[in-house]
Order: sequence, then C-alpha cells, then structure tokens
Amino acid sequence: MTNRRQFLQQASLGAGGLLAASALNPLMLACAENEKRSLGVALVGLGNYSTGQLGPALRNTKHCHLAGIVSGSADKAAKWAKEYNISPQNVYTYETFDRIADNPDIDFVYIVLPNSMHAEYAIRAAKAGKHVMCEKPMATSVADAEAMIAACKAANKKLAIGYRLYHEPFNREMMRLGQEKVHGAVRLIEASFGWRGVGWDNWRFNHAMAGGGALMDVGIYCIRACSYVLGENPLSVMATEVKTHPHFKEVDETLMWHMEFPSGAVASCTTSYAINVERLHVAAENGDFGLSPAYSYDGQRGYAGGKALEFPHIAEQSNHMDAFARHIRDNEANLTPGEMGLQDMKVIEAIYLSIKEKRRVSLV
Ligand code: NAD
Repeated sequence: MTNRRQFLQQASLGAGGLLAASALNPLMLACAENEKRSLGVALVGLGNYSTGQLGPALRNTKHCHLAGIVSGSADKAAKWAKEYNISPQNVYTYETFDRIADNPDIDFVYIVLPNSMHAEYAIRAAKAGKHVMCEKPMATSVADAEAMIAACKAANKKLAIGYRLYHEPFNREMMRLGQEKVHGAVRLIEASFGWRGVGWDNWRFNHAMAGGGALMDVGIYCIRACSYVLGENPLSVMATEVKTHPHFKEVDETLMWHMEFPSGAVASCTTSYAINVERLHVAAENGDFGLSPAYSYDGQRGYAGGKALEFPHIAEQSNHMDAFARHIRDNEANLTPGEMGLQDMKVIEAIYLSIKEKRRVSLV
C-alpha cells in the first residue's frame, strides 16, 4: 500500500504538477482537460506489436487516438480500417506515406517497423511535419540515431522512443529505489533478458534488417534498466559472445557483458535468443531489490528489502502514448526522448566492438 502511494505521488510529480493543480481546483481542471484536443496517431507497420499491444492500447488512451495506419498489405489495412473505424483517406502505404504531410488528422506517427527502417520513416515523418514516436532499438547505428534527432530538430518536431517501462509501476519503483538510494547506494546490478522461439524466417535473423540479434531486440532492456536504476550512463563495457546454433550466422545468439558506472556501481548483463530469462536484481549497500519477470507486458513480480512489491497492473503502452501526446500538446516532460535512444545505441555499438576486438571499450 505504501509503495502504491509512493508511486502515485511520484507519478503526480512527473506529470508536471498537473495532479497537484487538480487537487486545488478540480472543476476548473476538468473543464480545461475536456476542451483539449485528442491527438491523432498513425501506426506505421501493423505487425505483432501493433496488432497485439498498440492497437488495443489506443482504445484506452485519453489524450490520443488511432487516426491512421500505414501498411504494405491492402488486406491488412482494410481489416484494421474496419476494426478501428479509420477513414479511407487516413490509410497509407509505404509509397504514399509522405502525403501524410497534408493530413491534419495525424499529429504523430508511431514507427513499429523492423529496426533498420526506423531511421528512414522517422526522418520522412519529421519532414512531413509530424511528431515521431519510434520503437526500440531507435535505429541500427549511432549515425542513424543522430540523423533522426537532427531531422526532428530541423523540423521542430518532438521525438520519443518506445521505452514503455518508464510508464510501468514495478520498473518505476526500481528507478525510485535506486536513484533515491532507499536501500543505500547501489553497488551491483544483474540484468538478464532472453527469449526462445523467434521463427527462423523472422527479419530478426537478418542482420541488414535487425542490426544485430538478441542485444538489439531484448538486451537493450538490460542496458536501459541499469541506467534507470542508477540514474547514470555507463563509462565502459566489456563483452563476450556464445553461439551454439548454426542458424546464428548473421546475428548474436547469447551475449554477456559488464558495465562500469560513474558512482562505482558495476553491472553484469546477459541477453539471448536461446535462453528464456527475464530478471533484474539490484544489490545496494543496505538491501536488495529486483524484479522477475521484469520486462514483459504484464506479470511483473518484485521484491525490496525482503518484502514483496505490489502494484496494480496498468496499460503502460496507453500511458506512454498519452504521455507523448501531453508532451506535444501541453509541453509536459518527455521521459523517453531520442537522446535516450541514442545513448543506448552508443552502448550497443561499444558492446559489439568489445566482442570484435576482445577488449574493454570506454564510452567516455
Ligand atoms: P513484426 O515483424 O511483427 O512487424 C513488422 C511490421 O513491419 C510488419 O507489419 C511487416 O509487414 C512490416 N514491414 C514493412 N516492411 C517490411 C520489410 N521490408 N520486412 C519485414 N517487415 C516489413 O515485428 P514486431 O515484433 O511488431 O516489431 C516491430 C518493432 O517493434 C521492432 O523494432 C521491435 O523491436 C519493436 N517491438 C517493441 C516491443 C516493445 O515492447 N516495446 C515489443 C515488440 C516489438
């Protein structure tokens, strides 16, 4: 109960004092909120994540709604248009995408394509005058991530990365416990995320499309978790790789890496396409805390100082898209900006370099 209260308090602060204002004058705020326009979102790419998570999440958003779709498949687009009641003029193909510039129904696009396509569509969207939300990993290289940030800046458009766990209560509690040193300074973080069962014909096994293997797909959650527990970015990485299956010719199967942080904390991380694992464990000076499962859409279980953590389930994707809408519309904080995605791309490139050159790689 205490934890839930603390989380809600933190959420109200994160919302730029808006909840505090509502306590002062709820009627005035309710009227002002009702007058605010819901922003139109266009989903770019209607694959598994859009179908299973983002489309349904957009049924529960308060500050944005599904207004458009971009797909290469006429059949899929027709099915979505019917299911979500999308007007024909708001349905685009990858070829007609740039015409979105003339569509006032669309305020931001959400890019949910294979990793190598993120940069192209983010830049095209910014040039079309649309704000951009982009799935993780932000890109497949530091250079592309920088080009995306530059394009959004040049067009004066906002950019956010799909790090949904910034809106998930158990992970937010990890941030609070670590950054506020509730159990003393953090000394060690162990983070692992791996999954089996990616179909062999999936683009995730194609280096040109994915930019890498398990690290790009799920290892990135471990990098981010270490940074948000500590509120710091790593100083260096040292990594090794294990391959057990001949199919992993182009992309990584299992990687292990260590990171050192400015506070003196160290992290030990594992990612894999051959091991089902999902864990965050933090050893602080006066106690431990952690999560397992840690990064899934649902079902997190956590502990801190020997006690179980309890939080209600919330739809983190709905909250994340609403938060981006409020960032665009009301200038509220962007918890997951493009610069955060760029930072993680730098760590990812350093990990691959460390494996290639069999050495510790500095990030400063
Ligand atoms: P997916 O393969 O299910 O969907 C990809 C979509 O892109 C499909 O609709 C496909 O038709 C389309 N596409 C367009 N051009 C393509 C091409 N040349 N080759 C292949 N597909 C093409 O993938 P997904 O699992 O939905 O992942 C999409 C993105 O979302 C990835 O960047 C992934 O990392 C990210 N993702 C994020 C989360 C999260 O929790 N934040 C979860 C899953 C996926």
